[in-house]
Amino acid sequence: MSAGLVQAAYIVAALFFIMSLAGLSKQESARSGNYYGITGMTIALIATIFSPDAQGFAWVIIAMAIGGAIGIFYAKKVEMTEMPELVAILHSFVGLAAVLVGYNSYLEPPVAISTDLAEMHAEHVIHLVEVFLGVFIGAVTFTGSIVAFCKLRGVISSSPLNIPHKHKWNLAAIVVSTLLLVYFVKADGSMFALLVMTLIAFAFGYHLVASIGGADMPVVVSMLNSYSGWAAAAAGFMLANDLLIVTGALVGSSGAILSYIMCKAMNRSFISVIAGGFGQTVVISDDQEQGEHRETTAEDVAEMLKDSKSVIITPGYGMAVAQAQYPVHEITEKLRAQGIDVRFGIHPVAGRLPGHMNVLLAEAKVPYDIVLEMDELNDDFPETDTVLVIGANDTVNPAALEDPNSPIAGMPVLEVWNAKNVIVFKRSMNTGYAGVQNPLFFKENTSMLFGDAKESVDAISKAL
Ligand code: NDP
Repeated sequence: MSAGLVQAAYIVAALFFIMSLAGLSKQESARSGNYYGITGMTIALIATIFSPDAQGFAWVIIAMAIGGAIGIFYAKKVEMTEMPELVAILHSFVGLAAVLVGYNSYLEPPVAISTDLAEMHAEHVIHLVEVFLGVFIGAVTFTGSIVAFCKLRGVISSSPLNIPHKHKWNLAAIVVSTLLLVYFVKADGSMFALLVMTLIAFAFGYHLVASIGGADMPVVVSMLNSYSGWAAAAAGFMLANDLLIVTGALVGSSGAILSYIMCKAMNRSFISVIAGGFGQTVVISDDQEQGEHRETTAEDVAEMLKDSKSVIITPGYGMAVAQAQYPVHEITEKLRAQGIDVRFGIHPVAGRLPGHMNVLLAEAKVPYDIVLEMDELNDDFPETDTVLVIGANDTVNPAALEDPNSPIAGMPVLEVWNAKNVIVFKRSMNTGYAGVQNPLFFKENTSMLFGDAKESVDAISKAL
């Protein structure tokens, strides 16, 4: 393939990636968005593998076969509830790849394009800076994503790590790395400086994510998504690959926009979250019970639903764990057939992944037009007869609005308690992801329906 053809293919692939992002922004077009992405990536891979300066064809094919087989195996096996962990670990691969590309590019610098001595020197300096920054971003992304993976999997505690003077440590890491960069360039590429910076960046990435507490994890996941994009863009600069720069920048900036949206949704300061919880006061979460709670049965809930004119369902992580979306769709259809108005209220951070609930409901074929965002229906709860809180906890916690000392204080929530009746589906009085008790469970108009969400919804469906 000629160099011109490769560039043309890269432009086409970049267009497909942009169309893919545009498609993924709406549920109706998400499937075609995925196809555009796949097409773009196929074009990109073919153009790169057959480009004039590509070498080691056999190695590439072997690596792709092994990587592809592992990828297909895990993608088939992974449960919807494990998706966030999978995404986190995939980000760590991008980070590690950027580190390895950086070291490789340092050990085998590209051939200079210019023949002018001054220009050659400038090119060399730029290359050294690219290597240094690429390795730094990659290393931070690598360890940060591994910590996020461990937190989401529950291998390490989701509460924030609080070492004394944590922000000073972060600042020191940045200052020392900057000084090392100056030394690295001055010394015409010192392996020692590169190695020391890599170790600092590994520790920095670990600390940055470990310092962020439970309820802020959604922002961390999208932030690492953004970092992985910048790491890929940095690798693109080192390899002088325009498409990798474009793709990395697309992922980096869309991840940054998503992080910003999530921060707004959770009423958190973007800077404070990306700086590892900077400016946050540490509050000890309270998981004590706060009074008496009432229990109900599936049959009673079915009766209550039949007597309702309007129903809102607010799903959360528990619906994903129980895979209750199918029976939820079933009862929705049964109620709608009786002329009852049924809608879904989706909190921006419900579940463990941005858009988690939307994906599950779409999978169960719940019509999109009755699935609404929190802001679209939060004012409608006072006119609602019955709310079914299915496996949600933090996202319906009134403490976020009422208790300034709560770890989730200030986060907008679905104000379900304003409805006439609230039924909470869960297995116990345990707390949600943020580890805080929920005063909703002890309100007069709330009843608990204990048990696995799927079994409870199935029982209601039968009773209906
Ligand atoms: P929560 O995690 O707050 O609560 C889920 C509830 O579901 C639990 O209280 C649990 O109670 C219940 N549950 C678990 N399994 C079942 C089951 N099989 N049947 C019935 N109930 C079950 O959920 P929310 O969706 O309300 O909130 C999401 C939380 O996750 C927020 O704190 C958010 O910040 C965080 N987060 C979100 C991410 C995102 O991108 N969306 C990413 C990372 C974290 P019990 O054990 O008693 O059954």
